[in-house]
Amino acid sequence: MANAPTYRSVMLFIDGAWSLAADGRTLPVINPANEEQIGTVAHAGIADLDRALAAAERGFALWRKTPAMARAKVLNGAARLLRERNEDIATQMVLEQGKMIGEARGEVERAAEACDWMAGETMRIAGRIIEGRAANITNHVLREPVGIVAAFTPWNFPVNQIVRKVAGALAAGCALVVKGPEEAPGSCAELVRAFVDAGAPAGVVNLVYGTPAEISEYLVPHPLVRKISFTGSTVVGKHLASLAGQHMKLTTMELGGHAPVLVFADADPVATARALVGNKFRNAGQSCVNPTRFLVEDSIFDAFTAAFVAAASALKPGGGLDPDTTTGPLANIRRVEAMERLTADALAKGAKLHCGGQRVGNKGFFFAPTVFTDVPVDAALMNEEPFGPIAMINRWSDRDALYAEANRLPYGLSAYAFTASNATANEVTQRVESAMISFNHFGLGHPETPFGGMKDSGYGFEGGSEAIEPYLQTRFITKMDL
Ligand code: NAD
Repeated sequence: MANAPTYRSVMLFIDGAWSLAADGRTLPVINPANEEQIGTVAHAGIADLDRALAAAERGFALWRKTPAMARAKVLNGAARLLRERNEDIATQMVLEQGKMIGEARGEVERAAEACDWMAGETMRIAGRIIEGRAANITNHVLREPVGIVAAFTPWNFPVNQIVRKVAGALAAGCALVVKGPEEAPGSCAELVRAFVDAGAPAGVVNLVYGTPAEISEYLVPHPLVRKISFTGSTVVGKHLASLAGQHMKLTTMELGGHAPVLVFADADPVATARALVGNKFRNAGQSCVNPTRFLVEDSIFDAFTAAFVAAASALKPGGGLDPDTTTGPLANIRRVEAMERLTADALAKGAKLHCGGQRVGNKGFFFAPTVFTDVPVDAALMNEEPFGPIAMINRWSDRDALYAEANRLPYGLSAYAFTASNATANEVTQRVESAMISFNHFGLGHPETPFGGMKDSGYGFEGGSEAIEPYLQTRFITKMDL
């Protein structure tokens, strides 16, 4: 094809310049739609990390003294550039990660919105004065940037996962060393380029890739790093949080979920099922807030399931740049293998398969949209985050049992509920242990609203006015005039 889009290999960004790793090492980047190598990404070693930390130290010294108005200008400038470059960045994302181009464009636009939001937040950082206990005593509360941030971001939303951390840290006046996703490195490199082209000084944002464990084992304990922000699995999050704890580092942990979807009999079963299919299979199900355990009231279970299976079966898997595609490939072979393992286990435990259940084609990481019903709670799918295109629908008739099932797992990231009753919605709010609940629509993840988890899903928020907090520390200064 004459005009086939090409992928650009990715370098490290350290101290204001793009460079190869000191030892020249690279990793391959694979297109998940056809399994072909499309480029490489530089693999940082310790020498590169030392260079990034030294640059971040200089960058922080400068950036923390940069007025809020000037920081806001960089954030707004990055937003403008992301919008101008949306098509190019989205295309790189499809080639490296597999999602559909429309989803990729939406992700870049949301990143621009996050930058605009944080530009506003940076202008609202304010300390306060507390009245002293004598007329000549003044008490000042200062809000200052925490320092150098080490951020670790995954491959499922290559731009959105990193923009939340970078925009929050920059708004607060921090500098960062970010470890981007090795499997989808290009679009997040373009995000960093937008910050740089908008005026972020050298050293303020440094971007590396490599072996995740090697990088975190070096950065987390490093004395220059004050704050760790991680998005990824609960297992890795617990490991990094304990490592950070040993070194008294601040942490934000955005981890896994297993979202229950509570469907009540007063919801329209067909419209609800269709809307849920649209959200369930977005990004091939690879999202921490993905609707996962569908708990449907007995009287509408059959109508709901029939509509859900019909809509899921009608999805057309394909390459993300193909306009006919309605669901893309998984991002890597590990997810395909996980889908095969989870499917085999569910079948062995007696779950009923309605559609999908196997790979599609013999090239690319495609797995058919899959729907199970009557899944026993001891099936791995009912306990482990599937992070892929598998939906499990079970029926309920007793509300106490419903809430017990919704709260059975240690996760507490997102939950969804569909009901026409405000009284039921209030009950769900009170009884479902989830940091975020969305009723009758999918309203999670906007820059202006808090995004984060509780229980094993982590702590710290990445949206809303809460998003700047993890990057600020409070100091108290009291002075008696002599
Ligand atoms: P994984 O658990 O090894 O990696 C998950 C993420 O953590 C990746 O971005 C990886 O680079 C990073 N990581 C792994 N070990 C690390 C370490 N020691 N130090 C720093 N970073 C480290 O496995 P995976 O196959 O990439 O993903 C599997 C599971 O991770 C998924 O099933 C899902 O549950 C979870 N995940 C969650 C999110 C999210 O948005 N919360 C994103 C991606 C993956």
